[in-house]
Amino acid sequence: MRTPFVAGNWKMNKTAAEARELVHELKTGLQAVEAVDRVLCPPYTSIAAVAPLLEGTGIGLGAQDLHWEAAGAYTGAISPAMVAETCRYVIIGHSERRAYFGETDETVNRKVFAALGVGLIPIVCVGETLEENEAGRTGDVVSRQVQAGLAGLDAVQAGRLVVAYEPVWAIGTGRAATSAGAGAVIHEHIRLVMGGMFGGDVAGGCRILYGGSVTPANADEFFGVEDIDGALVGGASLKAGDFIQIARAAAP
Ligand code: PEP
Repeated sequence: MRTPFVAGNWKMNKTAAEARELVHELKTGLQAVEAVDRVLCPPYTSIAAVAPLLEGTGIGLGAQDLHWEAAGAYTGAISPAMVAETCRYVIIGHSERRAYFGETDETVNRKVFAALGVGLIPIVCVGETLEENEAGRTGDVVSRQVQAGLAGLDAVQAGRLVVAYEPVWAIGTGRAATSAGAGAVIHEHIRLVMGGMFGGDVAGGCRILYGGSVTPANADEFFGVEDIDGALVGGASLKAGDFIQIARAAAP
């Protein structure tokens, strides 16, 4: 039985003061949903502000990215150890990083190793663009992203991952995938591919999330699908009531 998992990706939203306010609104409601692993991923500048508010709540903290190098002349970048000082999780390979900041399967792979090396739990994002989807290439693209992004890991390392299937055309568009369609991609092109790489136990135990316009109105439907273990939530994670409802929907 895989523990459901719900993460909020705040993207480039919320000053530290606003982040504290949102955590105050979220805290009691989220704390109550103990059967679900709940994670908040604010921008770097708000991590230190919200960390003390989450202590002892059971709500985890994650960063939205990291650099793979340990230290050095990488202006503007944040190292794995810097993230690990306050966070337990880190999002890697989000489609916005791939689209706007030159993230590739190779840099995703480096970041996954770097994150695991300091004890972080990577939330690795994969997903096809609209063009790839319409060209019937979803399976090829997602399988390739899984194979290349997770290349070289051993089964113990792979066993620590969370994976998110996020079709790019569904992110922030209000046009979610169908639950059956997302479930099929997750089963055939993530779980089975991971099974081939790391064995059935690792693939069967891995939490695989759906992300892309998840709301309280559609969450139940996604979480009703056997292969979908939770959600990576963008827009709706900025509204306390909505995110709490989504977390509740993920509870068994
Ligand atoms: C995301 O940021 O990963 C995401 C899925 O965004 P949204 O829920 O807004 O589509």
